[in-house]
Amino acid sequence: MKRTTGTDRSITRNWKPATRAVRGGTWRSEMGETSEAMFLTSGYSYDDAATPAARFAGEEAGMTYSRLQNPTVAMLEERIALMEGAEACRTQATGMAAMTAALLCQLSAGDHIVAAQAAFGSCRWLVDDLLPRFGIEGTTIDSTDNAAWEAAIRPNTKVFFFETPANPTLDVVDLEFVCGLAKSRGITTVVDNAFCTPIMQRPMEWGADVVAYSATKLMEGQGRVLAGAVCGSEEFINEKLLPFQRNTGPNLSPFNAWVVLKGLETLELRARQQCANALKVGQFLEGRVPKILHPGLASHPRHELAMKQMDMTGCIFSFVLDGGRKEAHAFLDALELIDISNNIGDARSLMCHPASTTHHSVGPEKRAEMGVDEGMLRFNVGLEDADDLIEDLERALAAVGL
Ligand SMILES: *Cc1c(COP(=O)(O)O)cnc(C)c1O
Repeated sequence: MKRTTGTDRSITRNWKPATRAVRGGTWRSEMGETSEAMFLTSGYSYDDAATPAARFAGEEAGMTYSRLQNPTVAMLEERIALMEGAEACRTQATGMAAMTAALLCQLSAGDHIVAAQAAFGSCRWLVDDLLPRFGIEGTTIDSTDNAAWEAAIRPNTKVFFFETPANPTLDVVDLEFVCGLAKSRGITTVVDNAFCTPIMQRPMEWGADVVAYSATKLMEGQGRVLAGAVCGSEEFINEKLLPFQRNTGPNLSPFNAWVVLKGLETLELRARQQCANALKVGQFLEGRVPKILHPGLASHPRHELAMKQMDMTGCIFSFVLDGGRKEAHAFLDALELIDISNNIGDARSLMCHPASTTHHSVGPEKRAEMGVDEGMLRFNVGLEDADDLIEDLERALAAVGL
């Protein structure tokens, strides 16, 4: 295997984002294939007994077992790290495997974590249910309140954990403030950047230590496979994450890694067009629905902050109808083109009712605290023509008398 371009890191580092997404981490075998090869192998064989001994001792680079290394997976990890501007990256089987690994690899009994109230349902479960079982206490706060982050810090606080924009409330966290505060107190920030991908927002440029992904979403981009990734410093990845990952095994399959590699090649184009569609559709809905939460619209409470820290304002937004669950379900049932689906990041437009799906298990009390209204609908805007989407929305609005 040899690297095709940019063997010298100083060359790849100067590549623009679109080039990184297409070319980053490309290694070719002696066959000279143009598309990345798929190494569907769990093990590796050696010419002599000394070779594996040297590799297991860490004296020689090379593959030993696919829970430890795999060439296709390594290509994806190199590409994501390059796009993120991170020293290193490791991938996992799903976004939730990535979040779990990013937290458990660095927390121990007696530690404390401060996390955003508004978050993906399973991320809240980690903080509220899983970590306390192992003696790791969590405090959840309104992540848009800078003072709340500071007030929640305890002497044993080790990690800040949040999404921005958050799923599904689109809460925007002040990355520069929150990451700066964490740094000044020796706290590690873990940012779930699934809504943005590095094409739209790079939290490390604002001081984040660890950036974690559901690559299932916009990175893969066509709703085919699940994947996750954790980016950080060489030190964090090698000393904290790798011992955890290699011994617990939440690894990404090489097939899924290959699908995500192919997805990343079109990420910039997809993101650009989906964001443009989301803005056009958002502008159409504004004024027609009682409330819309879209970071790209001036009506968003943190619109200016979003414009400062995001290169594009996203392809996912939410809106709220006054008639609760009944009206939200009626709206969904009237759609003809847009699918009723709880996935996001897909090239297809998808809409869901978070209170009865993604945020069902967090329960009504926490939903109220997070701001997940019974009348809220979350909209992933895809690559279809925006005018066709608007026509479909007109139909749904008419069905609920709006
Ligand atoms: C989807 C999602 C996850 C979980 O990712 P999976 O790949 O489904 O495990 C975590 N965080 C956010 C913000 C998400 O949207």
